[in-house]
Amino acid sequence: MGMLDRAGARLTSRPEEAEILVVNTCSFIDTAKQESVDTILEMARHKTEGRASKLIVAGCLVERYRDEIRKNIPEVDAVVGTGELESILEAAGMERPALPAAPSPFNILNSGAPADTRAGREALAGTHKAETAGFRPEGDLREAQGRFRRDAWQGAAHLLPTYLYDESTPRLISTGRTSAYIKIAEGCDHPCTFCVIPNLRGKFRSRRFESVVAEAEQLVARGVREITLIGQDTTCYGEDLGLKDGLATLLDRLARIENLRWLRFLYAYPNRITGRLLETIAKHDNICKYLDVPLQHASPAVLKRMKRGAGADIFLKTLDKVRAAVPGIALRTSFIVGFPGESQEDVAVLEDFVREAKFDWLGVFSYSDEEGSNAYSLDAKVPKRSIEARKRRLMKLQQGISKQAKQQWVGRELVILAEGESEETPLLWEGRTEFHAPEIDGKAYINDFGDLESLEAGRFYRAEITEAHDYDVVARVVSGPL
Ligand code: SF4
Repeated sequence: MGMLDRAGARLTSRPEEAEILVVNTCSFIDTAKQESVDTILEMARHKTEGRASKLIVAGCLVERYRDEIRKNIPEVDAVVGTGELESILEAAGMERPALPAAPSPFNILNSGAPADTRAGREALAGTHKAETAGFRPEGDLREAQGRFRRDAWQGAAHLLPTYLYDESTPRLISTGRTSAYIKIAEGCDHPCTFCVIPNLRGKFRSRRFESVVAEAEQLVARGVREITLIGQDTTCYGEDLGLKDGLATLLDRLARIENLRWLRFLYAYPNRITGRLLETIAKHDNICKYLDVPLQHASPAVLKRMKRGAGADIFLKTLDKVRAAVPGIALRTSFIVGFPGESQEDVAVLEDFVREAKFDWLGVFSYSDEEGSNAYSLDAKVPKRSIEARKRRLMKLQQGISKQAKQQWVGRELVILAEGESEETPLLWEGRTEFHAPEIDGKAYINDFGDLESLEAGRFYRAEITEAHDYDVVARVVSGPL
């Protein structure tokens, strides 16, 4: 969006107004592929029956079915994979504008990165190019073992993406003026047998430390107050740059940006939650007391077949360590149910673990059998009906846990980011506390503005939690905006 905007395109979210339609796709599980294909077909109708003259398909579906898309949906004029973002301009038939100057050495030198790291040395020498970042030895090893192969996907033959954006890449923020995501790394070297994300996104590679800091500073200067760091595995950040405890170092640096009120990261890998990372979360007021750690399962037998390892006992110890280091921290996780060979005993282990772990937020995915994943060839597939029943049971169990946990919030005074009128009724506003990540967790509804006549979206208020429901809470504004 940023590149198209910079090249002079006027963007609209209404397909009936557009001359060029771009569908950004996802393809890591069945439901995502289906949604992507449905959207492409819907947009194709706008091209054949409406005013649009061009249809571009971008994103992960292209990495997986590059030739198939063009062959089977002739309305598609161009495809743009995740590693070739800059070709969106050519696909749209637009001229590439002159790029802004590279960041000055002054910015790089004053960013605080350890000068003895590869990133630091290369940044100082001005030789490091984000697009040619190196890889971790684990990534090279897994590549030799065939981890990233796409042979199972007809029509996917294309180079594995190596692209990384940087702070000078034009960006349009679509998440409002207060909140923004920053992707700090791309790709993944883990061997999880159910997952094709590495085949789609390539080997793990980190953005330069300086680049992330510069982007965060630019965003905050433009009024962003909440930054969420993302990547397929954020806790690996910096390993390919020679940084030790790279994520902790990065958080520590970003937390010092003046006017940045909330900083968080998503997608921690369980065995990479270091003491230093927890200390860093605890140390800074503006790092949200929030940890998202997708565990995928709790039965050691299932986790072994998933090639993730560990199990309920080890996870409970990790959670104890996290809660001791950062009191009051909100924990989010997600699980996959119905992995091949998952027995009733495995489900019982998972349910017991969920009862004991008491997560604040929990998501459950149904296992999706993906061609190209190692699990695809495993026997003992679980019937769809059983998968859905297991999912429903786990969600029901969590509902009770969540309800109890939210009751404990009643009477507390918390800072709430007001996001706007509720979609359900204009009498309520929706907001979030630091314990809610954008878009994925429950909500804090505001039904009483206190002494204020109105609230302003994107501003922070102090509020008292007055009611709790299964996942959401209700709040009364006490003071603000802050
Ligand atoms: S760590 Fe996440 S992205 Fe990487 S292979 Fe495992 S599930 Fe997939």
